[in-house]
Amino acid sequence: SAKKLGRNCYQFYQSSMNDAAQERLRIESALRSALERQEFVLHYQPQLDLAGGAIVGVEALLRWQHPELGMVAPQRFIGLAEETGLIVPIGAWVMRTACAQARAWMDAGLGPLRVAVNLSARQFAQRDLVQSVARVLADTGLPPHLLELELTESLFVDDVAQAVTLLHQLKALGVGLAIDDFGTGYSSLSYLRTFPIDVLKIDRSFVGQIAVDTDQAAIVISIIALAHNLQLKVIAEGVETAGQRDFLRAHGCDEVQGYFFSRPVPAGEVASLLPALLAGAHEQDGVAAEAP
Ligand code: C2E
Ligand code: MG
Ligand code: MG
Repeated sequence: SAKKLGRNCYQFYQSSMNDAAQERLRIESALRSALERQEFVLHYQPQLDLAGGAIVGVEALLRWQHPELGMVAPQRFIGLAEETGLIVPIGAWVMRTACAQARAWMDAGLGPLRVAVNLSARQFAQRDLVQSVARVLADTGLPPHLLELELTESLFVDDVAQAVTLLHQLKALGVGLAIDDFGTGYSSLSYLRTFPIDVLKIDRSFVGQIAVDTDQAAIVISIIALAHNLQLKVIAEGVETAGQRDFLRAHGCDEVQGYFFSRPVPAGEVASLLPALLAGAHEQDGVAAEAP
């Protein structure tokens, strides 16, 4: 009966709530020790110059190599790391590891390869953010212009004046600044004039539909025009098909990133991607597989 079903649903709901709470606690305590146990790894996803086809940069993307759960995607733990503040030491590790890796590629004669690092709201609120970025650049010997920081619009809403100051200080270090997931936030467009940013990254939710949805296509065309009018570079993320690439190329998008070219791969595989992508091997082979 409906009544019985209702009670069962309620019980199910309750026990899954408990499961969720337990899972949360488990993940939180595991997160605490993950840094010490060196369970975090970075994968790197190529960013290509759309006109020439060369890999000009990579985005560093965090994964958690959990002893039992396997490779855990960031969506499953970044939120919790953010809430608990653990994202601050984790993010510092990401920054240092990515910069050291980019310097190593440079020393190996690859590139110049720019590395993009995602910054969380908590990191952005750290008093010593600018000094810690400066220290990492000095320690690793990475030329500042080879580091790009990816920020989301949500970081700016709390205290705009403070954000502007901070961005100018970061800019003064010589690093690049990109707005990630552009178009999905709620903030006003006026910050684009005020903030010293270099790059807009078009969110993949727009890119995915450009071949079939004329409204999405119009949005993407408008973002490219907006960026170029403000002397900003545009990167489209989530490019999965040749059709999307061709559309973006036809409309003057500067750079692309997506499964069509390569999934995020371990550092050791980046070198082997460089010639393959340059030769256009992806056209025949389809997408590169993400390592387990
Ligand atoms: P994001 O910064 O927007 O990164 C792009 C995400 O899109 C990555 O997911 C990437 O694997 C995925 N992606 C790239 N190309 C395609 C495509 O063609 N199709 C589809 N469906 N997806 C594509 P990932 O690695 O799971 O990361 C998810 C989010 O987690 C990131 O989004 C970023 O917000 C966050 N994140 C990752 N690493 C870090 C980190 O080190 N620190 C912080 N604070 N956040 C991070
Ligand atoms: Mg990003
Ligand atoms: Mg993004």
